[in-house]
Amino acid sequence: MNILLIEDEKRIRDFVCCGFREQGFVVDCCDNGDEGFQKARSREYSAIVLDIMLPGRDGLSILGSLRKLGINTPVILLTARNELGDRIEGLNLGADDYLAKPFFVEELIARIHALQRRVTGDRQNNIVSGNFRLDRIHREVYWCEQSVGLTGREFNLIEYLMRSPGRVFTRTQIMSHVWGYDFAPNTNVVDVCIKRIRKKISLVNDDESPIESIRGVGYRFKKCDMNP
Ligand code: CA
Repeated sequence: MNILLIEDEKRIRDFVCCGFREQGFVVDCCDNGDEGFQKARSREYSAIVLDIMLPGRDGLSILGSLRKLGINTPVILLTARNELGDRIEGLNLGADDYLAKPFFVEELIARIHALQRRVTGDRQNNIVSGNFRLDRIHREVYWCEQSVGLTGREFNLIEYLMRSPGRVFTRTQIMSHVWGYDFAPNTNVVDVCIKRIRKKISLVNDDESPIESIRGVGYRFKKCDMNP
């Protein structure tokens, strides 16, 4: 999951960023409204966490403009405790949720997960495809019911592919979701990571890997017939 965090207060930005990274999220941080808006409109994120009072464009103006442009990325607003007016305006402008400051980062993470489930209609904690099972709560992957032992990054990559079996993802798409937009492009980190995952899978069981390479395009998770 890759999240855009637009928050000017360094202390909050740092603890949220840190909590997100521990959770395995990829975070793109931004401390002013103008840059935040540019990123939000030009890049694809799983969710945006948006402060209201910002230098440059304020959060409500960013939200309103995004929705006018037809960009429906889920947005969680960070609001001051007593600003009922901001919360109402935010929800009317198309915010998906809000959290009043001060807050626990665990609650923010739980709300992001809840939003994702709402957006994707996906309420499963386990994604199963053929011999493959991904346990999102414990962040474990099983191949033929044996743990594959993936790193956080490897887990994020396979989760990203597995959420849309059969869909082909380009290296750039995978890179932005799993490494973030600031990661140097034109590197072969995606291929290297896929290679490592395949190797780990084959160590557990020598069946054919469910990750397919699509020549000249990228990768996809093989669509398995769930009721053979
Ligand atoms: Ca602020």
